[in-house]
Formats: sequence, C-alpha cells, structure tokens
Amino acid sequence: MIFKVIDREELGRLFALLAPLGRVIGPVEIARDRRGEHRHGFAEVADFEALCLDYGTTALPAKAYVLPYRERLAAFRLGGQDWEKVPGPDQERPLIFFGLHACDINAFNKLDKVLLGGAYPVPGYAARRREMFVVGSDCQPRPACFCRSMGADTARHGFDLFLTDLGGSYFVEILSSAAFNLVRKIAARDPEEDDHRRYRRRVAEKNTRFTTQVDTTDLTKILDLEFQSEVWQQWGARCLSCGTCANVCPTCYCYTVSEQAGLDLQSARKIKTLYSCNLVDFAAVAGGHNFRPTSHARLKYRYYHKHRGFVEAYEEPLCVGCGRCGESCLAGITVPEVIASVRGGES
Ligand code: SF4
Ligand code: SF4
Repeated sequence: MIFKVIDREELGRLFALLAPLGRVIGPVEIARDRRGEHRHGFAEVADFEALCLDYGTTALPAKAYVLPYRERLAAFRLGGQDWEKVPGPDQERPLIFFGLHACDINAFNKLDKVLLGGAYPVPGYAARRREMFVVGSDCQPRPACFCRSMGADTARHGFDLFLTDLGGSYFVEILSSAAFNLVRKIAARDPEEDDHRRYRRRVAEKNTRFTTQVDTTDLTKILDLEFQSEVWQQWGARCLSCGTCANVCPTCYCYTVSEQAGLDLQSARKIKTLYSCNLVDFAAVAGGHNFRPTSHARLKYRYYHKHRGFVEAYEEPLCVGCGRCGESCLAGITVPEVIASVRGGES
C-alpha cells in the first residue's frame, strides 16, 4: 500500500482524468426524507460538482450497476427452419465508482466470492467487475449503521484508491498500479507525521460514532440452537413478504430466470431478474409445492443464509451492516433487533 496526501482541489483533477475512461458513478443528493434529512443515491455523474462525497448511506446500493435487477441472458429468433442466437448487447463502458464507502466495497468483495469464485463465474458480473475502477471514501456512521460489528467498516481490498477526508486535504491509500499512475498526474505529496496524526484522529472519531452494535459472538452456534425458537414466528408475523430488504441489500444476489416468447412466435428471450427469498413463491417448485410457505420460514432462511450458511462457507457473514434493510422495512424489522432477540434479548 502506498500513501499520499492531496489537496481538496486535486480531487476535481482526478475526476477529470477518470471521466473519459468510463461511466463515472457516484453519490448525489436525490431527496429529503420525512425528517428533512438529505438522502443520497448513486447516479452517473458527468460533472464533479454534482458529486456529494459527504454523504450518508444511500437508499439503494451500488450493486444495481454491476448486478442489474433485470438482465437479458440470451435471445433467439426463428431464422428459416431453426432458431438463431441473437448477439448480446454491445460491450459496456467500464464502471468507475467515485466515492464508495467501505461497507459497499466490502459488499462487492462478498459478491465476488459467490459470483466469481465458483466453477462457473457469472459472465456479465465478471466482465463488469474486471473493468471496474473504485475510488473509496471514508464516512461518518448513521444511527442505523453497524458495519463495525460485521467487520466491514474498513476496506482492505476491492478498491484502487481510498480517500480519507482530513479537512482541506485527503489522505489517499493507493492499491493498484492504475491508481498509482493516475495520482502521479496530480499534485500529491508523501504524508508527514502531522498527516498520520490527523488520519488516526479521523478514524478514532468515526469509531466513537457507532451507536448500533450487533453481538456476533458464536452467532452460528446460537442460530443452530435457536432454529425452532418462537422469535422467528414473532418476526414472521410482522413481515409483509414484500422483498424490499433484498432489493436494498448490497449483498443479496438471488435471482429467478424466465423465458419469454414473442407474440409472433418468431423470437424468444431468457431473462434473469433478481429475486427475494422473502417473496411468497421463492421456494415454490414445479408441481406447486412450496418449501417455505410461511413468512417466518422465509425470513428465518434469509437470516440463516447471511449469518450462518455464508459464515460456514466463507468465514464471514453475507451482511456488511449498512442498515439499509432495517431503514427500508415497512414492518420495522432490523438486523440488530432480530439477532438480539434470537440471542435472548428483547424483540
Ligand atoms: S423483513 Fe421487512 S422488508 Fe423484508 S420482506 Fe419482510 S416486511 Fe419486507
Ligand atoms: S442484510 Fe441489511 S444490513 Fe446487512 S448488508 Fe443487507 S441491507 Fe445491509
């Protein structure tokens, strides 16, 4: 890792160097919530001034750009007596994320384990990920954030360079040769002892601001022990089976595939759509049987996948503690409360 310090003005120059290389996606202000607080989302950004790097967690994750909610897997048309495969869409421009928080960088790292790490990497995701350039940025935790409990409050890999705001300047961690070559083109200096001190103070300050914690001690064992606990019925009774939690989650990747024939019966498409394990028919199979017909069984499955099964497979949870699911859930179901109740606390 190489460290540099740049003045705030140099960030615009960095943006100008990156912009011609692909689609720059970054945080922008999109609305105010009912409490009047600014809410942010990711959008394609052409102008550096439109970026809002001092942002809280976005309502929707950056996942949608790399793992689209709806994607064409294949298309066919009837040519004479036989079906011909229609070529896929043109090569997409590389994605450049400017200002991803550590939790969202870690979410991509977790998705990589599943979508790139198996015998059959997912082609569209792999192509986008290969070309991706990530500028990370530090953050100030919101009340719903519990990324620290999930070990996702700092990013150790999965970015090209990472910015920490020192007030008037940025502490820059450089992880890739592409980032190194870019930083050489702007005014950057080696950090001095005072920069180190300010960096440490900024990190320490951030750590004092976490107000939500999740106790993950022995959580896989506790989930095994509490598989039949009635708390699952209680949470299930509140759950609306709407699927919003998976929609806003940066690490949910489950999907369904549908085949659609054109009305003229001359064309057909195979479509992949992201899906949620909380939706009523998620576990329905041919013949009509539904392996998880109740809301509590589906909700429990989601928690066991994220906090037990994934931990057993990869030694880390499939949750970065971003808090998006709890903030979006109309039934007020949050990860910290569910896990506390399973551990024996109040629900
Ligand atoms: S937990 Fe909340 S967001 Fe998720 S499916 Fe149930 S009601 Fe919807
Ligand atoms: S489960 Fe909830 S808190 Fe965890 S990563 Fe997904 S949206 Fe964020």
